[in-house]
Amino acid sequence: MNLIKKGTKLYSIIKMKCPNCHEGHLFNNSNPYNLSEISDMPERCEHCHLKYEIETGFFYGAMYVSYALTIVLVVAFLLLIYVLNINDFVLSLLIFGGILVVVFPLVFRLSRSIWLNMFVAYKSRK
Ligand SMILES: [Zn+2]
Repeated sequence: MNLIKKGTKLYSIIKMKCPNCHEGHLFNNSNPYNLSEISDMPERCEHCHLKYEIETGFFYGAMYVSYALTIVLVVAFLLLIYVLNINDFVLSLLIFGGILVVVFPLVFRLSRSIWLNMFVAYKSRK
């Protein structure tokens, strides 16, 4: 079963592939938890030669996506502590802080992937 089909934005975002051809990798090291290389991206897609950093400072915009993703995490976590009926504020804060630290590399890369996908469509240009 493969729900995420090549050619969809979701495929490019989740698999962190070039949004134009869905072949090239967005990041040099596919492991986001290798923190020293977390932001290392090839200048261009190795398959279609799309320039990833469309303009200087392009990826600063990914911070807005990161912010939105973090809000989603906060809401999901608030729902979770409500459902589990956890009344300890400090404990909740510690758990959430821990979750944020653990998912940070994923959020960071997903944000860049989503941000680039907002500007480049599949097979849009060579
Ligand atoms: Zn490409």
